[in-house]
Amino acid sequence: MATQVETNLSSISTLTCSKCGLEHDYDVQQRVSTCCAMPLLAQYDFSSPFSKNDLQNREATMWRYHEVLPVLDEKYKVSMGEGFTPILELKNLAHAYGFENLILKDEGQNPTGSFKARGLSMAISKALELGSEGCIIPTAGNAGVAMAAYCAKANLPAIVVMPRHTPKAFKEECYWYGAEIHLIDGLIHDCAAQVRNLNHEGHLLDVSTLKEPYRLEGKKTMGYEIAEQLQWHLPDVILYPAGGGTGLIGIWKAFQEMIALGWLKKNVKLPRMVAVQAQNCRPLVDTYLGIHANSQNYNGSPTIANGLAVPRPLGEPLMLQVLELSGGTAISITEEEMLEGVREMARKEGLFIAPEGAAVWMAARKLLTQGWLQPQEQVLILNTGSGQKYMENIEGRYLS
Ligand SMILES: *Cc1c(COP(=O)(O)O)cnc(C)c1O
Ligand SMILES: [Zn+2]
Repeated sequence: MATQVETNLSSISTLTCSKCGLEHDYDVQQRVSTCCAMPLLAQYDFSSPFSKNDLQNREATMWRYHEVLPVLDEKYKVSMGEGFTPILELKNLAHAYGFENLILKDEGQNPTGSFKARGLSMAISKALELGSEGCIIPTAGNAGVAMAAYCAKANLPAIVVMPRHTPKAFKEECYWYGAEIHLIDGLIHDCAAQVRNLNHEGHLLDVSTLKEPYRLEGKKTMGYEIAEQLQWHLPDVILYPAGGGTGLIGIWKAFQEMIALGWLKKNVKLPRMVAVQAQNCRPLVDTYLGIHANSQNYNGSPTIANGLAVPRPLGEPLMLQVLELSGGTAISITEEEMLEGVREMARKEGLFIAPEGAAVWMAARKLLTQGWLQPQEQVLILNTGSGQKYMENIEGRYLS
């Protein structure tokens, strides 16, 4: 049955395998690539007109970039105002530590309190557009909450599988959105195994990180926003708390797309991208340092930064590519350092950030001390979530 499609909403042209480039149709729901079982990347027709001027007067959400987003028909858009979060100057911390230009993009101000809202808004919109019966997700917390919320709005059944040790606020919020919740002893890859059991017939869309192509498209909008909000002058360095890595991969993808659109010069100096992980679970750091060849058999421990407890990220090769192409690095932060970061950001800047964001701040401090960052460089910290749901991870620690 032919449906009326607003043809200029999206200029998506195909999906390609991130490993071998094989094309996949975008008019059916895809998972990983059929050739290599690796993430699929959405491609767009950049010859169709889309200019910076078109952005004027558009809504202050990630949907202002709809030409380079995959949703074809406005009526499937499931949105609660995600994206276009503020970039804040951290003058007090900059002054205390000798940064001249320290800024923070506050993703804690998204719906459901984290940047997961971007990816899940996009993935659930596409699930709706492509006729999914429901969605299922293994999660460390924030992604499950966001999926449950967007599924509620889209009127789709939702199943969330998360570690038993996840803070209560994440479980409660999923429950109130009406999701079915399963608790697992283990980390997110153990939850993924349970998702495969629960969905062995494949009726539900598994929206695991990078196992469908569209969460990445939501996350990449951070890259477009960073460029637009900084008047098309990119920062020297961006620090990102890497779990599955969609933000790191997505921001880099956005930079490439903006070069293709002519919004950034071909010879533009792109930011050095830094992946920050928890000392308790640092698969990418160990691969980056050559401690192991890859993280396929890595075993991590839980961390108060739940979103960083991803021992075997499917997107590792793509993350390593971003670190290499950008001249970036990878670094890990201890639990105690994260607490110090939460405390400092709260006391000096009035921001109650997630431990993941605190890890990123502490990484900036370390890299400045080590001379990897120069004082005059513009350094952008991504705070990926609000601290409010992590209370039992951090409560009482101030007494010690
Ligand atoms: C999920 C999450 C991360 C890691 O994001 P990836 O896309 O998996 O790299 C970082 N911070 C917070 C708060 C998260 O919820
Ligand atoms: Zn392939």
